[in-house]
Amino acid sequence: MIYFDNAATTPPLPFFPPWFGNPSSLHEAGIRAEGEIRKATGTLLSFAAQNGVIVYTSGATEANNTAIFGSLRKHSGKHVITTNIEHPSVVACFQRLEGMGYEVTYLPAAENGCVSEAELSDAVRPDTALVSIFYVHNELGAVHDIRRLAEIVHGKNKDAVFHTDAVQAFGKIKTDFRGVDLVTFCGHKIHGAKGIGALLLKNGIRVDPIFFGGGQQGGLRAGTENVEGILSLANAAKHAYENLDSNFQKVKGFRDEFLKISEVLGLRINCEDASPYILNISIPNVKGEILLNALSAEGICVSTGSACHGTRDKKNVLRTINPKYAENALRVSFSYMNTMEEVYTLKEAVLRGASNLSGIRRR
Ligand code: PLP
Repeated sequence: MIYFDNAATTPPLPFFPPWFGNPSSLHEAGIRAEGEIRKATGTLLSFAAQNGVIVYTSGATEANNTAIFGSLRKHSGKHVITTNIEHPSVVACFQRLEGMGYEVTYLPAAENGCVSEAELSDAVRPDTALVSIFYVHNELGAVHDIRRLAEIVHGKNKDAVFHTDAVQAFGKIKTDFRGVDLVTFCGHKIHGAKGIGALLLKNGIRVDPIFFGGGQQGGLRAGTENVEGILSLANAAKHAYENLDSNFQKVKGFRDEFLKISEVLGLRINCEDASPYILNISIPNVKGEILLNALSAEGICVSTGSACHGTRDKKNVLRTINPKYAENALRVSFSYMNTMEEVYTLKEAVLRGASNLSGIRRR
């Protein structure tokens, strides 16, 4: 199998931590596990270049829910801002907030997948409680200047909480979280385990828990910590950050090589200034889903959009920002674990598939 759907999930690095104790236990095994979690937190904070607290969750979905609902419980404002193309784990929270009496501004993403700084600035009000904007878009690869957006928000309202879902950025591109209050990341997009996410709370930022039970994690998230998941996340982050630049260059090389198919196919790149990890293209006269199935039959995995709608339906974000290219969209998402040989195979298979499906002749 050749795997180019690394924005959906990545193959996990083999990792078997010997620390199985319950971090709340008073004996040696518990104390060891607690110490290892503390080390993992230090590692993650250092890679994020932030001082603060990390709350471990069951994934990015829970981290986003905690950021959004947890920060609003501490705030009296009834206005919130997000974009119209967030991941479902953010969008669904804002839709729920509407039902709870909040006024939601959905900033429109432009064709390049980013929101306008001027529109963001205009949207921030004295009663804005929370702003949540993705760092790297999971379908398009669009990259926001998150530090700048946080600066704009806090310049207009210093009490508004700024959250970013950085799942597709952390461990992949150089990030700058200065000015950001809350950051979401997770393990399985960077070759860690599934079922582990993290919410970074910058020093001084507080959220209310959304789970109640034992007083684990300083009362911020009830439930026994997923020790294996947490250590796997930190281990994956170490691998990612130790080689951040070279991985970036390697993946960019894969993207550039793959895009040589555009010399034969008149394809459209749906987001030009994207992270090299995520490439979203549309091939004229070739339905994305049909090409996906043809590639899958050859053992090659790509996608047409996010896998996170819970069903295998046909929604993709281009329907919102550029509908005429939506049907033909294909997302190829790379990892540093891919090889150039795999990219050559993918190129050949896409060219073959596209020519079979559209009647395009190859030179
Ligand atoms: N946010 C983004 C940007 C994602 O790409 C994903 C995963 O697809 C999530 C959140 C949700 O992650 P999880 O399914 O691990 O909760």
